[in-house]
This record gives sequence, C-alpha cells and structure tokens, in this order.
Amino acid sequence: MIRMKPMPKEYNFTEIERNWQAKWEEMGIYHYDWNDKARTPFSIDTPPPYPSGELHMGNVLNWTYFDIVARFKRMQGFNVLFPQGWDCHGLGIEIQVEKARSIRKRDIPPEQFRTWCIELVEKYIAMMKEGLLKMGASIDWTTEYKTMNPDYWRRTQLSFVLLNKKGFMYQGTHPVNWCPRDETAIADAEVDHVKKEGILHYIKFPLSGSDEHLVVATSRPEFIPACVTVEVNPNDERYARYIGRKISVPLMNREVIVIGDECVDPKFGTGVVQICTYGDKDDVKTVIKHKLPVIRLINESGRITRAGCKYAGLYLNQARAAIVADLTTAGLLEKTEKIQQEVGVCDRCKTHVEILEVKQWFMKTLPLSDAIIKNANEIPWYPDYMKNRLIDWTRALDWDWVVSRQRLFATPIPVWYCKTCGEVIVAQESWVPIDPRMEMPRIEKCPRCGGKEFRGETDVLDTWMDSSITCAVHAGWPDREDWKHLFPASMHPSGTDIIRTWAYYLMVRHLALFGERAFNSVLINGMVLGSDGRKMSKSLKNYAAAPEVLSKHGADATRQWAAGGGATGSDIPYRAQDVEYGRRFLVKLWNVSSFASNLLADYNPNDKAEVDLQLLDKWIISKTENLTQKVTESLEKCQFNIAVEDIRNFTWHVFCDFYVEAVKDRLYRGEVYGKANRAAAQYTLYEVLYRLLQLLSPFTPHLTEEIYQHMYIDGKAYKSIQISQWPKFNPALVDEAAERDGDLVTAIMSEIRRDKAEKKMPLNASIKNLTVYAKDRATAVAIGQGCIDIAATLKIEEIKVEAEVKTDGRQVAQTGVYIKPEY
Ligand SMILES: [Zn+2]
Ligand SMILES: [Zn+2]
Repeated sequence: MIRMKPMPKEYNFTEIERNWQAKWEEMGIYHYDWNDKARTPFSIDTPPPYPSGELHMGNVLNWTYFDIVARFKRMQGFNVLFPQGWDCHGLGIEIQVEKARSIRKRDIPPEQFRTWCIELVEKYIAMMKEGLLKMGASIDWTTEYKTMNPDYWRRTQLSFVLLNKKGFMYQGTHPVNWCPRDETAIADAEVDHVKKEGILHYIKFPLSGSDEHLVVATSRPEFIPACVTVEVNPNDERYARYIGRKISVPLMNREVIVIGDECVDPKFGTGVVQICTYGDKDDVKTVIKHKLPVIRLINESGRITRAGCKYAGLYLNQARAAIVADLTTAGLLEKTEKIQQEVGVCDRCKTHVEILEVKQWFMKTLPLSDAIIKNANEIPWYPDYMKNRLIDWTRALDWDWVVSRQRLFATPIPVWYCKTCGEVIVAQESWVPIDPRMEMPRIEKCPRCGGKEFRGETDVLDTWMDSSITCAVHAGWPDREDWKHLFPASMHPSGTDIIRTWAYYLMVRHLALFGERAFNSVLINGMVLGSDGRKMSKSLKNYAAAPEVLSKHGADATRQWAAGGGATGSDIPYRAQDVEYGRRFLVKLWNVSSFASNLLADYNPNDKAEVDLQLLDKWIISKTENLTQKVTESLEKCQFNIAVEDIRNFTWHVFCDFYVEAVKDRLYRGEVYGKANRAAAQYTLYEVLYRLLQLLSPFTPHLTEEIYQHMYIDGKAYKSIQISQWPKFNPALVDEAAERDGDLVTAIMSEIRRDKAEKKMPLNASIKNLTVYAKDRATAVAIGQGCIDIAATLKIEEIKVEAEVKTDGRQVAQTGVYIKPEY
C-alpha cells in the first residue's frame, strides 16, 4: 500500500506557496550541476535587471516566461542554468540619489556619492529579490551576481582589455549624443524619440554684395552662432544660382558660402537650410561630407561657449530667447509657425539630447553589422517577426558605440595617460579589477618617453558594457576552463523595448570577443498595459503593484495571467479578472484532486492488478495523450498562452465535467462493476490526474507540487514533481474509435444536462427513463458502451437505445442522434 495523504478541504495558497518556495531552496533542485556533463545543458541568459524598487507587473510577466521555460526544460531532462544578476550601474540610480538628497554629484566627494548609490541599489535589489522569490521563479540563487562588485568589474574590464587588443576599442573626437543635464555621452540606444510641438523660424540671411537675402527655416535659431554653411538643393530652380555665393550669418558678423546638396528637401520650410555644428544628426553628415569646419557652440553642461560671442555663458534656452529677440529687432525674423517635430531626449531624464564633439572611447561596432544580421537570421526567435527589430536597428546604425560615460557610479575604464607624452596605457589582463581613479598603472615608466607620472582615466564605462557580456559570464567566463560547454546561451529572453540594446549589444560584444554568437534562440515579451489598454502608470489609476497582486491572489494565479494574457511578444493588459479566473481554476483543481484522493484511498499503483478499461477510460487516456503532444509543441514554440489555455480547458471541461463525474459510481460501488472494472477507473483517474499536474507544473508550480506530495510521492518516487520526467507522447495510447464514441456519449450527457437546466431542475434530479434514437446499429453499439456511465452521471433509472432514425425529443448537436428523457 502506498501513502495517500488526505488533503485539507481548503486550499490555503499563502501557506502552500511560502512552504514550497522554502523547501525547493532547501532541496537545491534548481541548482545547475556544474559537474554533470551527461545531461545536455540549457542555459537561460536571464537579463540582469536594473534594480529600480519593487518588482512590477512587467517583471512578473518576464520572469514567468523565463521560469516556464526553465521548468519545462528541467523536466525534459536538461541540466538547466537559470542564473540571476543585477545590473547596478544605471544612470537612473545616480539621478535618484541626486534627487533624494537634493545634491548634484559634482559637488560631492566621489566615494561618498558611490556609497550612497550602492546603498540605494542594495535596498532595491532586496525588494526585487523578495518579489522574484514570491512569484516562485526557479532561479539558481548560487549564481547571483551584482555588476557593481569588484568581481564583476574584473570581467567587464577584462573584456575591454581584450577588445582593445583585438583593435575594437579606440579613442576619438567625434560627435556623440550628449545629455546636458547628466553631463555625459549617451549611446543611440539611450535616446528616446518623442513627438513635440516646435516653432519654425523663418530667418533672413543677407546675401553679401547685394540687397537680396535667402530665408532659412529652422526650429533651432539658437544654433545660428554655429552656422557653418547654408544649403539648398541644386535642382531647386529658385536657389540653384546662389550656390557658391557668400552669405551673412545673422547677428554674427561673418560670412559662409552657400552649398548645394541633393539631400535638401525643397518642400521643407523654404527649401533653404542652415548647417550648424551641431543642430542634429543631419548636420553631422553634411559636415563630414563637405569637410566643413566645426564651431563648438555649447559645452558639456549645455551652455554657450565663447564661440557664441555675446551669447556666451547662456544656457541654450536662454540663448534662444535672446537670439530671437535680437533677430526681431534687426528685422531679420520674417515669421514663425508651429510644427510637429520629433526630437531626441535622454531616456533617463528626458532632457533634450544635444550633439557634442568630444573625446570619447568607442567600440567599433559597424564592421560587425553584417555578422549580427546573419546570426539573427540563423536562430529561432519567439515570435519570429521580432527578429526584424534587431535587423532593422542594426541596419540603421551609422555611428560606432560610444562606451565612455562622464559619470561616477560605473565600472572604471582601465586606462591611464602619461603626463609627459600623453601615451595611452591600457591595463594588462592581470591588473583587473582596478580603478585608475585611485590606483596608478603597474609599470615603472612610460614605455614611450620614460616619464613616471600618469593620469588615471576619470571616464567610466556605459552600463551596457557590464551587461552585454552576460552570455559568457553566466557560462563561467573567464574562470572556468569549460565555459564553452554553456556557450552560446541556449536562450536569450528580451523585451520588445530592449531588443535594440540588450540583444544588439550582446551579439556585438560576443562576436567581437569570441567570434561566436551570444545565444542560440531569442524569447521576446511585450509590455504590460493597464486594465484600460493604456500604458500602466500610477497617475492614470490603472497601475497594479506586483507585491500586492501576488499577496492577494498568490503566485500560481498571477502566473496564469502572465502566461495566458496574450500571445508571446505582444503587449498584454493587466486584468484582475484574469488572475481571478486563475484562482478559480486552482480551487477547482484542488477540489477535484482532494475528491480523487478519497476515491483512490485504497489504490496501489505498484500492485499489478488486472484492469479492464472501459470506453470513457480509453477516451480520456487517448485525449490526454493528444493534449500532451499539443502542450509540448506549444511549449517548444514558447506559445505559453495556447499551452495554458489547452490544459485548463481540458482539466476543467473534459476531465472534471465528464470523466470524474462518470467514474464516481464505479469507484463508490465497485462491487457492482467488478474488480477489473473498478481497477481500471482507479488506474485511469490516478494516471490522468498525474499527467495534468505535470503539464501544469511549469505554470502553477506550487499547487501542483502540493497535490503531488499528497498523492504521488510514493507512487512516482520523484522527490519533487518539478524534476519528474516530462511525459513523452505515446501514439500507442491514442484510440481514435474510443475518442469518437466517447465524444458521442459525453455529448449525450451534455444534452441531458441542458435539458435539466432548461427545465430548471437540479443536475442530480433523477430521470425515470431515457430513450436514445441512435440512427443506426453502429451508433447504437457505440452508445451502448457508455450507457452505464450516462446512467450513473445523470441519475437515470433505465436507458433504452434504439437503432433507428427518429426525430423525437432533443437532438444531440451535430450527431443525428435524438434523446427523450422522461422524469
Ligand atoms: Zn539625461
Ligand atoms: Zn610618456
């Protein structure tokens, strides 16, 4: 006899979930086995999130996806690596520390500022970690890392040193995106493009040596002091004759030459544009193409330099007002009009991004664009169409990646400069981690001039330089000799919003460092919207706080919302009623399991008793086998919503509504049916429920574990259902005839239920006799196999099956069969 622990009546999810979260951790079942080389590894490149406070519903969606994959693969027999790190060095942390303490980082000793950043990050990590534990993510916590720790600096800096050796890093003075508020360079990927109303100014530029003028239409008059040319389209009949003529820059007492370029759109404004260094990215292109001079108009904090003459010292917006006023006074402002324009803003602080020519460190990324596109095309993406986001982004890039930042809380660039000759000293591999702001290079003298004094680099690395080596770091690089065993990562999960950063940077870094792609597949999640379909936001009152949702409904219910809320990759709204449906499903599963555990109290699966499978046994076994195949296929394709819907519908509307109802009688009154018949019912109930628990366990791990431990721990002998073997589809158990006949029998049951419901009778109301007109002999024989079940389920005293066509009573939908119940 096996133990079948009686299950409590009530399903207490808080207790069950907390209990299993602790026990799984104790059991260590989520640990990757570094010594096991027999099982195939499956590594998930968990994106280390920016610690930003409490876990939010977007995180819940992402980690549910990762976790379903991890649990599914573990059950399939893979040695799963589900690591977790924290990407600490976000610009957002610096901004929050400044705001919370009402300071500017430049006014604070750097060490003090760093300490405050670390404190804030630690607080946020603790909050998010609590959330991840609460949602039951099967993370291997022994892998936890923080990019702000010296051990991670070492990896980031080593990658810099190696890339430098390979010729991928260079220092240069180039135009870069610049946030004047944060006073740092930022990458294209950190620039958000927003639509805004602007004002187009029509400004007269006097042509030299005549009383003619050209009218330039510009939305940025403040850049007039940096005007280096005026440009027209050479095919524009209105202006072609002015090409090569001298023209005055208004208010500036100097002249430039009018040039022609077919890029100028004759239809925009007046068809005459000013080129300034730098009003926008097009200016940069024109300056390079026509080899124009550069006037550095603004400094790092967005103030006008001496090049701006009388406007020097003003911030850009002040200069704009002054210049517009002066233009008006001088009679050079013809008119203004409102326009809708797209402007680039800093993705962290939303300040208008400027373009500044400054000395920065760059990584050569453009030469790898073809390789990135090729690799993106070679691997599966879930969903497939998302790969175009990476490909399009890669194609559109026209600048290398600027990797230096003028910030404090970040990984230092391991570089020094000789104070005598300016020689660049890059750290050797054995020196890292090292902070050149605090330590000198470990050499006697400058290799070029013999100088003994050095200046450490004060710039630091873009936070994406930390996080874009995770595929190698998770695999154990650079410490484990066997790290290639886990590389490339089996799956890189990413959000629709970070394909251009995370997926792109991972690809470019790993290709440059190792000549190999970073990952072998990509799983994309969409964003979580508010219940009204708009972006979730506290001010719109459509915000749901993840810790509250998890406390109120439990992890298993919330995870069903995440898995089932929409197709993978699409944005999904948070709907409390979806979570509530998840809860009701769990209660149903709990109740049916509790009921089954009573019916199975005397069942011993190891006892090889003779079983005589009846029609509905064969019917449900066959259907369960087909369900297994469908769910497995959906999970292989990361179609979580399809998988979870299929299992829930089957469990509720096939297993509970028909099978369990039908076999009750066989199990309660076994003596009437005979031993082998009753054994068949027990065997089928036991095995089908187990299969459903297995299929559900990646989605609702806590409740399925709890039921497993009550009913199956002895019979199945895995210490946790989470490491039980994922069922393999067995075609030998598929029985088409049984499915067809069983469908007919259950359709008859449904029709009788409908009849009772219409007559407002209780479902257990008894029926004196039922006549079934089965249209032909074969159908009558089929129905005959299920008569006992129909009678038992619907309390029918006598059933008669006639092999004749007679349209008497109720038609059983789409069967040609008619039934006539008499109460
Ligand atoms: Zn900014
Ligand atoms: Zn030197």
